[in-house]
Amino acid sequence: MGYSKETYQKAKDLIFQRKLKAENDAEIRQQRLFAKIPRAKEITKELTACGTAAARAVVKGGNAKDELEKLKEKSLSLQSELHSLLVLNNLPTDYTEPKYVCKKCRDSGYIEQNNKTITCECMKKALADIACEELNKTSPLTLSTFDTFNLDYYSMDVENNSVSPYTRMSKIFSFCKSYANSFTTESGSLLMRGATGLGKTHLSLAIANEIIRKGFSVVYVSAPAILSKLEKLHFSSKYEEESNTEQTLTECDLLIIDDIGTEFSSPFTVAALYNIFNTRILSGKPLILNTNLTISELEKEYSQRFVSRVIGSCTKMDFIGKDVRSIRRKV
Ligand SMILES: [Zn+2]
Repeated sequence: MGYSKETYQKAKDLIFQRKLKAENDAEIRQQRLFAKIPRAKEITKELTACGTAAARAVVKGGNAKDELEKLKEKSLSLQSELHSLLVLNNLPTDYTEPKYVCKKCRDSGYIEQNNKTITCECMKKALADIACEELNKTSPLTLSTFDTFNLDYYSMDVENNSVSPYTRMSKIFSFCKSYANSFTTESGSLLMRGATGLGKTHLSLAIANEIIRKGFSVVYVSAPAILSKLEKLHFSSKYEEESNTEQTLTECDLLIIDDIGTEFSSPFTVAALYNIFNTRILSGKPLILNTNLTISELEKEYSQRFVSRVIGSCTKMDFIGKDVRSIRRKV
């Protein structure tokens, strides 16, 4: 399994842009240095000449040892002169070196290891991020944050429940905030349950935003949208795209699926959903599931085995209150 060609191309472009920027910036710093300290330009020229002379000596063959030794000495003394000049002018000694985002591969995306070229971690991260971005294209990710969540919409009256919606939702809010703050790829999974309009989507998007900011890969999808997409790809024999999408869903650091149980259910969608969840549970990767259904309704929709396997691995949160979208802001 792999990413799509487009994803690879985008990741390569991204890393190449980083390299270009690091090297252009270094070039600008070098020109600035030369303008300020003309001797630095001479030293750099002489260093290049040493390098060329050394290469020539090697190509010429014969006993180049003495000559190479002399060139090495000269080059070291030039380097030390340049360092002294930089220090004297309060500049870092690596002032003219490119500042690569990834020092391991110098922003090439690949590293040599045991005579093999392997994909660098930075390239793997770029691939995962781009694949997630593609899936998140239709999500309102930027609209919901913890700051825009308003607890004043929840009543302080204790009605049928033993706690007021305000108290319950305050607890859930704090829990979600600390979940996002302490998130790791081994965090637990969550199940947000409750009627429409109680803030499940808002809080799960707030978690997503916080976690994306920290550099994790997050995919947020609604169950009906993603399942109908997978089904379409499957039945139009676009297996590669189907498998790429599934891979992103199972491999991202956090997968959030909204509106579980409202999708058009078929043996295909149930199997696809179970497969995605099971793969994540087995590899210990967190999920956040949102549903308007009760546990027994979920059992009817899927199966008891499915529900106990998936739901059993989640911390459950019951959202209570009145649809906040129908209430005007009280304060
Ligand atoms: Zn790298």
